[in-house]
Amino acid sequence: MDIDWELTGKIIWGLCVVAWGVIRFRPNIKARKTKIATTKRPPIERFSMFASQLGLGIIPAIWVFTGFPAAFDRPIGPVSIAIGTALFLWSLYLFRKTHKALGKMWSHSLDLREDHKLVTRGIYEKVRHPMYSAFWLWAVSPPFLLANWVAGLAGIVGFGTLYFLRVGQEEAMMEAEFGEEYSQYKARTRRIIPGIY
Ligand code: SAH
Repeated sequence: MDIDWELTGKIIWGLCVVAWGVIRFRPNIKARKTKIATTKRPPIERFSMFASQLGLGIIPAIWVFTGFPAAFDRPIGPVSIAIGTALFLWSLYLFRKTHKALGKMWSHSLDLREDHKLVTRGIYEKVRHPMYSAFWLWAVSPPFLLANWVAGLAGIVGFGTLYFLRVGQEEAMMEAEFGEEYSQYKARTRRIIPGIY
């Protein structure tokens, strides 16, 4: 039997994106019930969030459903699909853990909620931005899953834009709110890869 690896990769990618939506669905409803006390969204946040959505979701989806831009198609095989699947599943696992740990403290942008508590336990003991680690894992899986260079690499560019424009600002916001508690937390953790970065 001849397996269509290109189609397999597309289906796995689609299922993982849907699973991501399922994981976020309830935490999103719950967190939204808690009022935002302070917001530190810089004007560029709208641009960077759009870049991230474009790269992680919209551009790959356009290729998956329409085949555009076909000029950048490339062959793909089972080993690549296996690696991409493993990376995306790892991302989803981490993503779920971060939502559980953050609970109603989560927001999709730079906001602090009423009675905001600093979370430093569980997955937040390992790194201080584990949700961004999860998004990086998502971003690096399409190059292995999708048989098109543009669809494959868009997530790295898109999420990379959001990440680098936001992470310093987020830490400044947390430091302004939690002071010494955050400085100490920052001193003993790395950003997204335990012990490395
Ligand atoms: N950067 C974190 C959280 C992303 S969600 C991660 O990658 O896991 C973004 C929001 O989470 C921020 O607006 C901030 O309000 C909140 N947040 C970030 N780190 C937090 C922490 N350690 N404890 C509590 N809330 C945090």
